[in-house]
Amino acid sequence: HRREKDEIERRATTDELTGLPNRAALNHKLSEEVSRRLGRNIPDELGVLMMDVDHFKTFNDNWGHAAGDAILAAIGDTLTEVLRPGDFAARYGGEEFTVIMPLATAEGMRITAQRIRQSVEQMRIPWEGEILRVTISLGGARLSTTQSELDGQRLLETADAKLYKAKENGRNCFLG
Ligand code: GH3
Ligand code: MG
Ligand code: MG
Repeated sequence: HRREKDEIERRATTDELTGLPNRAALNHKLSEEVSRRLGRNIPDELGVLMMDVDHFKTFNDNWGHAAGDAILAAIGDTLTEVLRPGDFAARYGGEEFTVIMPLATAEGMRITAQRIRQSVEQMRIPWEGEILRVTISLGGARLSTTQSELDGQRLLETADAKLYKAKENGRNCFLG
């Protein structure tokens, strides 16, 4: 029964399409990181990146939903490849992804965000004799000390607001 239990646990925490941790696993990891810092003086900043595929509705309309799914799976692979051990990538939902960085600095976060952005920009996905490509926009936020269990969700909201600005800024860019 051990293996069955592991498999049930894996399914509950994994996004099938991308193989990344899902939203539930993300929230769990975020609470863990916030709780670990509550009432303690931990110098490492907690960072969050929110990212969203640019003009993905148009992409789906042009290429079809299955092509869109192939793009999302490829973004999952790219995130797994470019992130450092310790960074935690998840599919937030739809065409949105989140990275939790337990050891963030402003500079480190910017470098990571730009590395992700460029890696996605350079993806070339063969599809029915043609080549698919997309770009993403990213927003980032960091926190040094946590005061409340709610700080994790606030961090997500702040990063999401930056992501919105990155979209306004012309897309295919990072704002932290
Ligand atoms: P923006 O650059 O402002 O983000 O524009 P957008 O078109 O990407 O944003 P919008 O929110 O209008 O559209 C998101 C699209 O993502 C619509 C939806 O069909 C598509 N989408 C969400 N989840 C999936 C999925 O699992 N597979 C596929 N193929 N498409 C998805
Ligand atoms: Mg979106
Ligand atoms: Mg989008």
